[in-house]
This record gives sequence, C-alpha cells and structure tokens, in this order.
Amino acid sequence: MKGDFLFYDPMQTNIENATKTAALIPEKFVYYFAADEAEGNASMKNILGGKGANLAEMTQMGLPVPPGFTISTDICTHYYEVGGKLPDWVKPKVLEALARVEKKIGKKFGDAKDPLLFSVRSGARASMPGMMDTILNLGLNDQTVEGLAKTSGNPRFAWDSYRRFIQMYSDVVLGMNSSLLDVLLEDLKEDKKYQFDYELTADDLKKLVTKFKDHVRSQTGQAFPTDPMEQLWGAISAVFKSWNTARAITYRELHDIPYSWGTAVNVQSMVFGNRGEDSATGVAFTRDPSTGEKYFYGEFLVNAQGEDVVAGIRTPNVLTKSEAAKAGTKSLEEIMPEAFQELVKHYKTLETHYKDMQDIEFTIESGKLWMLQTRNGKRTAKAALKIACDMMDEKLITPEEALLRLDPSSLNQLLHPTLDPKSEKTVLAKGLPASPGGVSGQIVFTAEEAVEEKEKGHKVILVRIETSPEDIAGMVAAQGILTTRGGMTSHAAVVARGMGKCCVAGCGDVLVDERIETIKVKGYVLKKGDIITLDGGTGEVYLGEVKTIPPQLDGNFERIMKLAGGYKTMGVRANADTPQDAMMAKKFGAEGIGLCRTEHMFFGADRIDAVREMILAESKKERELALAKLLPMQRSDFFELFKIMDGHPVTIRLLDPPLHEFVPHGEEDMQELAKRIHWDFEKLRMKIKSLHEFNPMLGHRGCRLAITYPEIYEMQVRAIAEAASDMVLAGKKLKPEIMIPLIATAKELEILRALSVQTVEKVKREKGVQFDFLVGTMIELPRAAVTADHIAEHADFFSFGTNDLTQTTMGLSRDDSGRFLGSYVSSGIFNKDPFVSLDQSGVGQLVKMGTELGRRAHPTLKVGICGEHGGDPESIEFFNHIGLDYISCSPFRVPIAIMAAARSALRSKNRHF
Ligand code: PEP
Ligand code: MG
Repeated sequence: MKGDFLFYDPMQTNIENATKTAALIPEKFVYYFAADEAEGNASMKNILGGKGANLAEMTQMGLPVPPGFTISTDICTHYYEVGGKLPDWVKPKVLEALARVEKKIGKKFGDAKDPLLFSVRSGARASMPGMMDTILNLGLNDQTVEGLAKTSGNPRFAWDSYRRFIQMYSDVVLGMNSSLLDVLLEDLKEDKKYQFDYELTADDLKKLVTKFKDHVRSQTGQAFPTDPMEQLWGAISAVFKSWNTARAITYRELHDIPYSWGTAVNVQSMVFGNRGEDSATGVAFTRDPSTGEKYFYGEFLVNAQGEDVVAGIRTPNVLTKSEAAKAGTKSLEEIMPEAFQELVKHYKTLETHYKDMQDIEFTIESGKLWMLQTRNGKRTAKAALKIACDMMDEKLITPEEALLRLDPSSLNQLLHPTLDPKSEKTVLAKGLPASPGGVSGQIVFTAEEAVEEKEKGHKVILVRIETSPEDIAGMVAAQGILTTRGGMTSHAAVVARGMGKCCVAGCGDVLVDERIETIKVKGYVLKKGDIITLDGGTGEVYLGEVKTIPPQLDGNFERIMKLAGGYKTMGVRANADTPQDAMMAKKFGAEGIGLCRTEHMFFGADRIDAVREMILAESKKERELALAKLLPMQRSDFFELFKIMDGHPVTIRLLDPPLHEFVPHGEEDMQELAKRIHWDFEKLRMKIKSLHEFNPMLGHRGCRLAITYPEIYEMQVRAIAEAASDMVLAGKKLKPEIMIPLIATAKELEILRALSVQTVEKVKREKGVQFDFLVGTMIELPRAAVTADHIAEHADFFSFGTNDLTQTTMGLSRDDSGRFLGSYVSSGIFNKDPFVSLDQSGVGQLVKMGTELGRRAHPTLKVGICGEHGGDPESIEFFNHIGLDYISCSPFRVPIAIMAAARSALRSKNRHF
C-alpha cells in the first residue's frame, strides 16, 4: 500500500542516484492480475491508476481479462526524481511478475517459437483519454514474428502486428515522427492500388517492416531494438515520460489533475483483434454517452487492433442490430453473435457492480471475447442527468449517490445555446452529433490558428481531418470542432464531450485540404476565415452564421435541481442588476438577490448623463438636481426587482462606481457630453482630469463616496424605501436589504447606517406604511475582516465581497493581473486563478475570521458571500464548511451553486469532508 515504505539504500544498486535521492521506496509497487489472482482492486486507483485498478477488479469478478501486471503510480514519481529513468530496483519486481504471467499463459516472452507478447499502456488516477501513450505487440522481432506466424497459421496477422509495433514504438519510445512511417504505408497502398490497410498481404507487410526498420536506422542512427527486454524497459519508461508531455500537461491543467499523481503502467499479455475475420476490437458504453438513453451503444472494427477504433482511421460499425439497421451496416450482434451475447452479459454485470455507466474496451480474438478496460464513462451533462434519474428509478443508486456523482460545473453544458429551429439554414453536410451545442465561427485549420484568432477576439471553428492530443489547446480556444473522420468514440468526440464543447465528428462529406486551407463541400469551396455553424445535437454543418436560442432544460434537470435544493443547507441567491437577470435567476432557482450592483443600473444611454452630472457636480445643489433626475429611475428599478422576487430577499448595494468608468475620456465624447449637459468644454475637460485617480480601485469609491457626498446614498435609500412602500401599498410583503460597500472601519458603517435608517423611517412616515428592512455591509477589505466584531455592531448582515477581498489581500489588481496569473498557475505557485477559485488558505481565512468575529459580537448576524467565488464549486464547499448562511452568484451559475451546495452538505453529513 502507498504509505507503507521501506528505506531504500541506493548504494546497493545505483551509486549515481544515491547523491540525487535517498528515496523511500514503496514496499509493493508491482501488482499482478490473472484469473483468480488479482492483487489489486477498484478501490486502489491512487496506486494502480484507473485502468490498472479496474483490470484487477474485473479479474476479481471473474471476467475474461488477459493476465498482466501494473506498475504503481509511485514509480512515476521515482522516475522523475532520478532524472527521468527507471530506477534499477524496479526491475527485479517487474521480472518476477513477468515470470508469473509466462507461467500462467504457458508461453515465454521472447520465445522465437511461440512468443508471449505484451501491451504496455498508461493509466492515471483520473482518466486522460488519448493523452498518454500505448504500445501494442511488444516483444516482436525478426525471429518472434516467424513464431507468431507459425503458431497462428496466419503470417499476414503476424506481420501486420509487427509493422504496427514498429510504428507505435518508433513514435512513443524512439520519439520519431511516426507520420513518416504512415507515408511509407500509404505509398505502398497507392502502388498496389489498395484502398484499405487490411488489403495489404503478408508479403507487402514484410516489405513494409524492412522499410520501416531502414527508416528508423536512418532517422535515429541506430537499429530498431530487437531484444524484447530492451523493448519492455523502453516502453515502460516511455509511458512514465508521457506523463509530462506538453499535451498531458495541458490536459492536466484543464482538468485540475495534479502533477504529483503520476501515471501507472499496465503491462498486459496481448490478445489480437487483427487475427482475421473472426477477430475484432471495439469500445462500448452501457448507455448512450451523449443522450443517456439506456441502450447498449458502441463501435467495433473487424480484423483491427485497439487504437484503430478511436484513432478514426476506419469508420467503425455499431454493435447492435437495431442501430446497424438505421445506418445500413452490419452489427457485431449479427457478425459474431456469441461474443456479442457474452459482451452484453458482462456489460450488465459491470454496470450493476459499479452502479454507473461503463465505458468498455474489448477485443475478440478468434471468436473469444476479452475485456481490456472498464471505467465510468465520460458523458454529456444532459446524459449525466438522465442516467442519474434513470438509475434512481431503477433503484441502482440512491438520491444521495445520484447527487454526489454529478459534477456541478458540467451543468454549464446544459446552459449552452442551441440553434434556432426557425432560422433559415443552408445545410452543407451531416456528421456525427458528438457533443451538443450550437455554435458559429470562422474556419481555422490548425490548433495554433485557433489560439491566435481567439486571442484577436474572433470566434472560430477548428476543422480537422481528425484531432489528436496535440490539438488540445486549439480545441479549448475554438467554439466548436468539426472532424471529417472518426466515430463517436474518436479523440475529437471524447475530448469535446468532456469539455462541454460542441463537436461534429466523422463528417466525411467535407473534404479538407489542409495545405491550401480550404474545404470543399456540396459544391462550395470555403477558405480560412469563412463562417460555418455546427449543430452538435444533430451533427449538421451549416453555411454562415445561424441564430441561436437559449438552452431549454428538460425534466431531468428540474428533478435533480429539486433534489439538490432539498439537501443543501446554504441559501443560494443571485447577483442580478436588471429585471431580466432577476427573472433568469428565479427560473434557475435563486432564493433571492444577494447583490444588486446599483451602478450597473446606470449604463443605459438614457441614464448615464444624469449619473455623469451627479459625478461632475460642483456643488451640493447641482448634485441634488442630478440626483433628483435619478430618483424616479431608481425607484422603478427597485420596484421591478421587488415584484419579480416576490417576497424573497433583495439585497441592494448602494453605489460603488469607480468614477473614471463613468466619464468620457476621448476628446470627441467629451465635446458631445459638454453639449448635452450644457457645460463649457474646457471646464468639463479640467473636471474630468481632476477626477483622475492613479489607483481607482483603491480610490474614491464605495462608502467613501457617501462619506463625502451623503446625498447620493440618501437618494438611493429613499428610492428603495419608496419602492418598498409602493409594494406594501400594493399588498405585497417584502424585507429589503440595504448593503453598504467597501467598509474599512466601524465608524463608516455607523454613520451610513444612521443615514439609511433615518431616510427609510422618514419615507415610511411620509407614506404611512410599515415594513422591516435590514442594513448590512460588504466585507471586502482585510481591515474589515479583522475588525469584523466592531463592524458587526452596526450591521444586520455581512456579505463577503471576495473579488475585492482577493484583490486587497493578495495585492493583485482585479483588472490587470490576468496577464501574469497564468504563469503563476503553470509554475504551481497558485493551484488556480485566485479570482476564479478562492484562495482558501489566505483570503479564505479572512472570510472565516470575519464570520466568527462578526457572529461573536452579533449572534444573529446573517453572513453570505457575493464575489465571483459564489459560483465556483470548490469555493462553495469551503463556504459551506465554514458555515455561511448563503452564497450569491450570477444567474447562469445558480444551478451549479445549488448542486455544489447540496453535494457539500451531503459530504459533511457523511463526514467525507
Ligand atoms: C466583490 O468585491 O466581491 C463584489 C462582489 O463587489 P464588486 O465585484 O462589485 O466590486
Ligand atoms: Mg467589491
């Protein structure tokens, strides 16, 4: 087990390493698996990686798994600790396990007569599809290939396996550009006028192998390694090395997978899907990963090897008769009925065992089925909800399990737009609906172009023949991805689905010429920069831009949200400034407004000049005149919000404008404003200049504005109180919450609370109405957090403004630090951008301290948070843990917040926190 360590004395085997590391080596790090003898199980993902743990588990369950062994993830760490090589002490244990496999199978590795061959595959704790490397048919050389040909009675198969091995090994271990070998293969096919790889004869393949080896020698200056042991050590090292390739790093960053986890290596005896027409290889999902529908879904290829299916080299067939009938092809059910029935039996066993949708890899060798992998399948958010609901109905999982397995952030996918069915469209082609969403953008042909164009602010669609892991950054940058080859389990489909990105795959009607950057489709020739639209729900590709409509959420979404709502203990409110925002938030289940930024209510063209007059006013009188214009606007805004929220709390934050944002800076704009507000231009220019602040974020904003100009807050509070009175007069109930921003000292709040209370009471008397209201403050400066007990004496509630609190605690500008935070994250100084996910050990401690101090002085104090972190699942977990009463986030993130709050409540209930 990880954690049980022996002290390793490096002097015994490797003096060089002794100076670099006195590493603690794990007691056990090679785990054998073969029928009835698996040393691992599914709970050991941290040590064995997902693939290794599940291979062991399937073996334990009695499923047909080819024997092999897993080298644990710890060794990946050791590999890097000793400068990127396999420590010598690893080898004896590997050899021991290898001997056990040989004994079990009754064949020897390297035996020229009847060789045992291996696959060597990576497998990290979290699945990283296609990110790391795989080598199949390891152990072949000029002698063993003859043995394989003889024992199989199929020389074509033996030589096909050999040429594949050389291709994979050259790419993964020798680091050659394997596309050069592809070119040799394509040239031969062209010479022979073949269309498909399987048309190559044994003789062709033999010649190809010679060409490949010559090529390797000319490229690397060395002969292709013939010693099987040398091949094995090379392959194991290469898998560890693949943990740190650029593409693996990008993927890890994208999915928050720590470097320290490392990958395991699975060495498994080979079974062959390319052994002839009674052999096949495929992947299967126990439910449709795109829709969640309950039917057996998958793809396979006859006479092919593992990677062919996912690499999109040939377009695969589907498994079941009913699906194949739709596509007009033959299914596995028809071609190999016995193996198919056994596969169905295993998938049912696996789904019941893991209580989740499984993504399975299998190979059929000469009619015999072998299981090569199972894992919880990646799925779209829509499918995740459907599967969770269906499995609850099937009593396979409890409601609590259903919630705990859903990823709140994935709900983002459901909230994406789709294409407007009413809009006019010109269909160009139809591919596979690999990942949902409706998107338009300019065509680009490379990942680099996608990144560049995105940086220029353009929306792009990445068009590729097929994607590879190198394209990952481009896929992130693009709105959507279109590929012309590959099936629903191709790289593009799997990765896009994981990202929640629209993808149409395998769209064979689109002819891509990457050299001249054009596509030809249906008589059109489109070039880089032309706009197309993808419908990831249907697989259709359209010419030009198509209108989109907001997402329509189905019954499963509502059911899950209701369920989550019942488990969460924190309130979830929305940051909403307009009636539209408020309506959207309510629709998504917000229980009130936690932040209405009143300065955002003034951006409209009809209002901004009145605000500018207020800012520019030279006397109290002038300011009051401008405020009088704003009062009725504010009153009706607040009335609308109160009406929509219908008795739910509405927190209105008084003005917090960085003043410079509201005044024009360009000469022409200043001229126009001067004309409109009847000011002398020069006077206006001077005034605007005088408002300039070097550091406006730390300047005359928030409550500071009201300390110097109390009439501003007085007007706003009056507008709130008048709107509230109108609600009361209309027979409605409400309890407005007035929130004062950027408080640093208790005294500021004492003064502004008194002003607010006096103003509300005055309006109540004038209108002859009664209603309760609260006056609270934002805690968004470190001083406020550490003196929260004093501040709480004047507050009915606190709402942590974690945006400003992060800015001021870390001394990082909210507006500018984006430029360099990326390097802080990539160099591991920050795990994540602290403006996205709360810095729990720094800023978070101030939130905790402020909450505790505040409640100590004022036990009934309500405490919430309304910074951007209110929509981030990890931060929400923290807020729940420290006992906040509510969180508030933007309307589109409300479902995510509800789900995250529910999961967090469940986890603390189950003490998993
Ligand atoms: C905050 O600072 O976290 C906050 C919510 O206020 P604003 O973003 O408007 O400064
Ligand atoms: Mg703020």
